[in-house]
Amino acid sequence: MSTRRILLIEDEQHLASALKLNLGLEGYEVLHAASAREAGRLLVDPTGFHAIILDVMLPDVDGVTFCQRLRDAGDYTPVLMLTARSSPQDKVAGLEAGADDYLPKPFELAELLARVRSLMRRARWARAETETDGAMLRFGQVVVDFATHRVMVADRPITLTKLELDLLRYFAENARRVLSRGELLENVWHVDRHANTRTVDNFIVRLRRQLEPDPQRPVHFVSVRGAGYKFEP
Ligand code: CA
Repeated sequence: MSTRRILLIEDEQHLASALKLNLGLEGYEVLHAASAREAGRLLVDPTGFHAIILDVMLPDVDGVTFCQRLRDAGDYTPVLMLTARSSPQDKVAGLEAGADDYLPKPFELAELLARVRSLMRRARWARAETETDGAMLRFGQVVVDFATHRVMVADRPITLTKLELDLLRYFAENARRVLSRGELLENVWHVDRHANTRTVDNFIVRLRRQLEPDPQRPVHFVSVRGAGYKFEP
């Protein structure tokens, strides 16, 4: 993700168009959803978003509930909530649901843009956090939610065993580092590092078969000759 991607969830077409235009001029790529249902479809995109601008008053699900569901599903993309209501209770409800910031309507465009920039800084922080707590992992066409054990490959759900998920998590936490079979046995299988190292190889074959675009020519689970394996996200 080099271009900063924003998901804009707003049912007022005029406002949505104006925001999309102005955020586009700032260099952001903006995808627009006019309802929570539409947003749900866009969120499956494994490329992900750097930030979400979320209107509270939507035609189907209200923004507070939507935000709550997002967080419950382990998605910590920074959220800026927009609403016509500016009572302290509404603000509290939004923040408790996991929104990162809150902007009452009507607002000045300059203020929204400043809030979005601030959200982007938090997005960088949130991704660093995700790498260490391992809640969500995205690479290539793969999205892994370690909290719910949900794994999607090119928008299709697949099933991994607990041990496969543990191995994947260890790789994610140690991305781009060469890991010996012994280290993997100790930290994933919790057995002696001199146990049968073929076990590791068999699991790598299985991960490649399920998660690599071409299992014969792996780009994510890479063999390092004489040393072990390396995960390239
Ligand atoms: Ca609305």
